[in-house]
Amino acid sequence: MIKVGINGYGTIGRRVAQAVMLQKDMTVSGIVKTKPDYVAHFASRNFRVFAPDDKSAKAFQESEMKVSGTLQNLLEDSDIIVDATPEGIGEKNLDLYRSSKIKAIFQGGEKSSTGETSFNSYANFDQSRGKDYVRVVSCNTTGLARTLSALRDNFGVDNVYATLIRRATDPNDSKKGPINALEPSLKIPSHHAPDVKTVMGDLDIDTVAIKAPTTLMHVHVVQAHLSKQVDAGDVMEAFSGYPRILQVSGKEGVASTAQIMDLARERGRNRSDLYEIAVWKESINLKAGKINYIQAVHQESDVVPENIDAIRAMFELMDKESSLSATDLTLGIGNKVY
Ligand code: NAD
Repeated sequence: MIKVGINGYGTIGRRVAQAVMLQKDMTVSGIVKTKPDYVAHFASRNFRVFAPDDKSAKAFQESEMKVSGTLQNLLEDSDIIVDATPEGIGEKNLDLYRSSKIKAIFQGGEKSSTGETSFNSYANFDQSRGKDYVRVVSCNTTGLARTLSALRDNFGVDNVYATLIRRATDPNDSKKGPINALEPSLKIPSHHAPDVKTVMGDLDIDTVAIKAPTTLMHVHVVQAHLSKQVDAGDVMEAFSGYPRILQVSGKEGVASTAQIMDLARERGRNRSDLYEIAVWKESINLKAGKINYIQAVHQESDVVPENIDAIRAMFELMDKESSLSATDLTLGIGNKVY
């Protein structure tokens, strides 16, 4: 059993912890929380809770919530750390993990140089085999890498142009915006195109990104020039071979991200998460030799299966197909929705 410590128990950390708990080959050695708040309270029902340092540990003791020690203690009792701290902190933690001789996974908010390699299960699982420091790419990059890997594997991809409409912040956040505004990233391409290349090699891709006042999901409008002549039906068939891509339809009432999230709630998964990238069937079409499609990304959860697969790749526990199948089975990915 691989002992997995989770440093940073927010949107991503708490979901990865839950997913690790469901695996047969790994266990959660503990989680790190900075404050004795309601999230720490619920975490302590399932996990040992650690504080980042003595100062935070004191705040826990004063609140009468039990902590099992500090991050340093968790490092001593773990085989790997999944660092899901806010962006920039993971990079600062790298030296600590190195000096503690412990493997670590970082998240997409960190610079790509933080890990020895970046990771996406479909795009480049094998590049992380045996590595000590790996970065799982961001929610948006994971969404693009999933569907573009399916296209690349089946037809080859010559070039891609994608417009990303990004959720402004997560549903549990009341501080960030924009509010009643659309905020374009003024750099073209946005940082997403180079990030996709960290897992898809020399893919020719350009992206633009616009933040919108919504918390539910991101939406991507993707246009891909494929190396083979295909039609929409070929693309739908190809996508259906990838359990982490879910095809939804306006005809079945899925008209917006509101219904996709409602579908996820009906499905009854933990926290109403949707690990799969949802592609609208009707949007898949061929125009002027290019395939177009629109997809939605549940930013809070799509990277969770990737974190589990990355652990297996780093410890060389399973080959790609076996790891993806084990992760999908435990998380219920690929089960028919309706
Ligand atoms: P978050 O703010 O929801 O959670 C981070 C947690 O870490 C918080 O609980 C915070 O209190 C805690 N923390 C802060 N400083 C800490 C420290 N020094 N030590 C330990 N814990 C500390 O952030 P998040 O959304 O989960 O993002 C984490 C990482 O995942 C970032 O790199 C982000 O870019 C990436 N990511 C986020 C999303 C998303 O949509 N939320 C999706 C994919 C990837």
